Amino acid sequence: MKREKRLTKRERKALAPPRPAAAPAHVHHIHCIACGRHLEPEEMQTGEALMLRCQHGSTFPSCSGCRSRSIELLAEHDRTGQAVRTASAWH
Ligand SMILES: [Zn+2]
Ligand SMILES: [Zn+2]
Ligand SMILES: [Zn+2]
Repeated sequence: MKREKRLTKRERKALAPPRPAAAPAHVHHIHCIACGRHLEPEEMQTGEALMLRCQHGSTFPSCSGCRSRSIELLAEHDRTGQAVRTASAWH
């Protein structure tokens, strides 16, 4: 009995076109360090989001509502010298 050749899962995967790049490099993604929410550049203008500066002079984005939590995160980072424990980004 003649059977049509079927591709294995791995073979199909190899034939699949490569995934398109996640996001164009020129799109600047900023996320609140305290809650991980995506922040639009316009929110910086409207005051819904702000940039906070740590003692080393690096800036970190934050929602205005997360301000105090973000400041705590930066204070901890400055105290310990560890990377800022940013929340995982989401959309
Ligand atoms: Zn936030
Ligand atoms: Zn984003
Ligand atoms: Zn710092």
